[in-house]
Amino acid sequence: MKKIIVAIDGFSSCGKSTMAKDLARYAGYVYVDTGAMYRAVALLAIENGWLTEDYIDEENLQKNISQIKIFFKNNAAGVQETYLNGRNVEREIRTLKVANGASRISALGFVRHQMVSQQQLMGAEKGIVMDGRDIGTVVFPQAELKIFVTARAEVRAMRRMKELQQKGQKPVFEQVFANIKERDLRDTTRTESPLKQADDAILIDNSDITRAEQQKILEKLFKERTELDIQ
Ligand code: C5P
Repeated sequence: MKKIIVAIDGFSSCGKSTMAKDLARYAGYVYVDTGAMYRAVALLAIENGWLTEDYIDEENLQKNISQIKIFFKNNAAGVQETYLNGRNVEREIRTLKVANGASRISALGFVRHQMVSQQQLMGAEKGIVMDGRDIGTVVFPQAELKIFVTARAEVRAMRRMKELQQKGQKPVFEQVFANIKERDLRDTTRTESPLKQADDAILIDNSDITRAEQQKILEKLFKERTELDIQ
């Protein structure tokens, strides 16, 4: 069967990565979490003092951006983890502080340019499920299957709360909700590759459907697209 590219875009915390991982497992495809890549860049920038609450040292970030190498590797339990210049940063990149930093540095053209090049290389052989904000519009406009996911902001905030609690953090609902709204606004209004549904993307609102129901929809779409490809 011919391999395809699956692009999954959508708002923060609407289950894109769960959806993408489930589909990648079903298809036997590689999964790439592009949000983790922007988070890793933000973490490095925070650690070096290039990114603070009210300032971005664009000059130094730009000087070092081409040296940043991000890759993914499965741990012993088969869970994919993010590596930044050879160091496992999976835990550190999942905080609200880093999420917020990622949303700020991802608005910079030179950061996006560098990440998009790395992502295009990762997908050169196809057989990939990639999730993010600009995958179907910028990274792989030629993707054979494009999904745009959304869910109500309150539902997304509750899901993010649970996720953070499971990671041992103690999130406050109002803060998580405000963070989501702030990131939605930034993602949709930035000039560089704003989040928007590609014309040929299929919209899925998963506020009121289960993970299993969502998976059924995806499997059907995947089968349709791959069968179309071999005709
Ligand atoms: O998906 P996740 O919440 O991990 O992404 C972190 C941030 O990275 C998002 O708020 C978004 O601003 C940015 N991002 C992006 N383009 C992508 C993936 C993520 O701008 N393809």
